[in-house]
Amino acid sequence: MSMEKYWLNQLDKVSAKVRVNGRRGYGSGRSLVASTNLVSGDVVMIEAPIMTFPRLSGVLVCVNCLGRLDYLSTCTRCGLPLCNDCQGDDQADLHSRECQVLVHNDVKFTPTSNIEAKLLLSLTSVLRLLLLEKSNNWQDLESNIMERKQQAFSGSGSISGWRFVETKLVPLLTSLKNESGHFLFSQDDIHEAAGVLDTNCFQLKEVDKSGHVTRLGRCLYLNSSMFNNNCDPNCHRTIVNGQLEIWTVRPVSEGEELNICYVDQDMDVMDRSLVFRTSKQFECSCQRCVIEIYGKSLDNNHSCS
Ligand SMILES: [Zn+2]
Ligand SMILES: [Zn+2]
Ligand SMILES: [Zn+2]
Repeated sequence: MSMEKYWLNQLDKVSAKVRVNGRRGYGSGRSLVASTNLVSGDVVMIEAPIMTFPRLSGVLVCVNCLGRLDYLSTCTRCGLPLCNDCQGDDQADLHSRECQVLVHNDVKFTPTSNIEAKLLLSLTSVLRLLLLEKSNNWQDLESNIMERKQQAFSGSGSISGWRFVETKLVPLLTSLKNESGHFLFSQDDIHEAAGVLDTNCFQLKEVDKSGHVTRLGRCLYLNSSMFNNNCDPNCHRTIVNGQLEIWTVRPVSEGEELNICYVDQDMDVMDRSLVFRTSKQFECSCQRCVIEIYGKSLDNNHSCS
């Protein structure tokens, strides 16, 4: 089955209100459009993640449950940040595979501060994706490898960008071997996985009643990664227990592109464009960005008299 057919079949199972437009690697790539007229509030996608991951941020989290760690606690076997509740194979369902590989290779981390421990979160997520079975088809997601590399050499890369991966993750991950003694991952595999994560993941963030972050990470979805960005989007999204739900916030005509805002819509235009440029490798040219940057609408050229 061709990859495009595969995606279409997957979408059939998810939502009859959406169809795929375009192809990966051609023109502006794939996008999702309404396959019928939609009213405001129509749910267009419900999707479970193929995997959840920790990510490098200001908050230290457990690599297994992604719960906030207020004090440094690590896996007794591999040394990655892990809460007490997630110690042991039965509890650490997400962490067990990467833990086995690290232990098999005699790798044990010994972070002595939260800052050191946080740096291990990126390594964990890239390793976790690399260990995910090929049948999950994550290799077909966009990774923006060339753009990431170019950015690194122009000095504008993000903290999780190509240069970070090359210096902090590649040396250790390329040294890992399987049971037969063969190297598990190449340098290209590692950059590919890191690019897929940065380009496609959705943020998972749970807060308590006082706004204190209790759980933080990122989720990878195969179908929903095809939604393009618009800073005044026609769809909104929510993630509850990892399940992503996307619905329209205004009527959408058949054939019209469906889009979401990749970042917090309240961010100002400069902050949005910095995130888009450094972690998603694109310049947003949606109407809202054009108006906020140039102060007027491109299709509203009349002058006041
Ligand atoms: Zn935990
Ligand atoms: Zn471990
Ligand atoms: Zn925009």
